[in-house]
Amino acid sequence: MSVSAAKKFENFSSWFDDLILKARIVDNRFPVKGFLVYMENGAYILDEIRRLLENELEKTGHKKMYFPLVTSEELFGKEAEHIKGFSKEVFVIDQGPGEQRLIIRPTSETIMYPMFKIWIRSHADLPLKVYQSVNVYRCETKATRALYRVREIPWNEAHTVHETPSDAERQVKEAMEIYQKVLKALGISYLILKRPDFDKFAGAVYSIAFDAWNPDGKVNQVATIHNLGRNFAKAYGLEFEKKDGSRGIPYQTCYGFGFSRVLAAIIAQHGDDHGLVLPPIIAPTQVVIIPIPFKGQEKQIYEYAAKVKEMLSQKWRTVLDDREDITPGEKFYHWELLGPPIRIEIGPREVAESSVTISRRDTLERTKVQLDKLTDKVAELMDAIASNLLERSRRMMMSLISDAKDIDEIKRILKDRRIARIEWCGKIECAEKLRDEVKGEIRGERYDIAEMPEGNCVICGEKAKYVVYVARAY
Ligand SMILES: [Zn+2]
Repeated sequence: MSVSAAKKFENFSSWFDDLILKARIVDNRFPVKGFLVYMENGAYILDEIRRLLENELEKTGHKKMYFPLVTSEELFGKEAEHIKGFSKEVFVIDQGPGEQRLIIRPTSETIMYPMFKIWIRSHADLPLKVYQSVNVYRCETKATRALYRVREIPWNEAHTVHETPSDAERQVKEAMEIYQKVLKALGISYLILKRPDFDKFAGAVYSIAFDAWNPDGKVNQVATIHNLGRNFAKAYGLEFEKKDGSRGIPYQTCYGFGFSRVLAAIIAQHGDDHGLVLPPIIAPTQVVIIPIPFKGQEKQIYEYAAKVKEMLSQKWRTVLDDREDITPGEKFYHWELLGPPIRIEIGPREVAESSVTISRRDTLERTKVQLDKLTDKVAELMDAIASNLLERSRRMMMSLISDAKDIDEIKRILKDRRIARIEWCGKIECAEKLRDEVKGEIRGERYDIAEMPEGNCVICGEKAKYVVYVARAY
């Protein structure tokens, strides 16, 4: 049985839309475009992702704060490139004649940095590393898409200030490692790409992005890291006294991690035609126990199942599905849709043998385990499932990337819902030609490893400067 006739790789959109509603992740029917209702499973997973990320940020000395939702037009307009980049997509609160118009944060540079100016006096105040997990708002004019492209975006943003450019460089690396760690725990795979100049964050020196693969071939940008240099520091008047007593302008970085897009990646990369397949670490239910009643032995079976539940609940989020009005088959279907990593079945044979039957959601493999070995077996399986999800996702990503030598080949690869790797001269004209002809974007060159071009730009034929990845994107 499957979620719907639409299969994940054949018709991603309807597979996804169907699943997020049936699995109670989000309800996309709120009657304002681009705003979602997160139902219990979606809200739970979102909170778990947030907790994982915030733990890593705390461990590396970031301080949690909460800043206002709004900024003024004057503050918003201070960094020229920034306002150019965002002015078309901000929501504005108009309080009427004679009152100041307020801008709702599309991101929080223009809200945090006036405060940084007040707080930072000397080198002793640096580095400053703060973060918040909040919603930001962007008035998307393009078609919205549940979790991928929304107007209310739940995310985490961190902002840092440093004495030297090399401190800021080190911070970019630290941010990259934090995001890698969290995404690894979730089994998500992606490319870390340095965006081409024309596509960097408005006001940044350079931008790095995490592009996760998606079954429909459109990459999903789940996180970004920006080296801001001194562009914002100059615009907002940040200064500090150096050790030698002279005045200096500090260097900044900022980075954002999109919770709804990461949730989308978990669903899209791991899910199958039966439903969600959740990594153990964030699953609302980690183990589900389903009793298989047998005439005359119902009582023993339910009692035994309750005992197993009590045992496993000490370590895992465990649910005993003891509803009597539906059949075990209906329960299997229901829980396959919701994606808990482990299912346990208990029938008369299991009771007689002091065992249980365990099945893995990721591989659907079933095994029988004696009760006294159950806790160890579940622990072992949880680890195995987490690493299998990661491995499977990585293999899939590698299989989606193909080298292309000319525009026709790029077209074929993109049409086939994959990602093309090409050599590029670096000129914006070539990027634009590519966008017009193949409807694909140059997403950037690898940041985590060096890939050197050997030949010519596949678009204009001049000497290539970069190896870049081309894909459609959300
Ligand atoms: Zn070229």
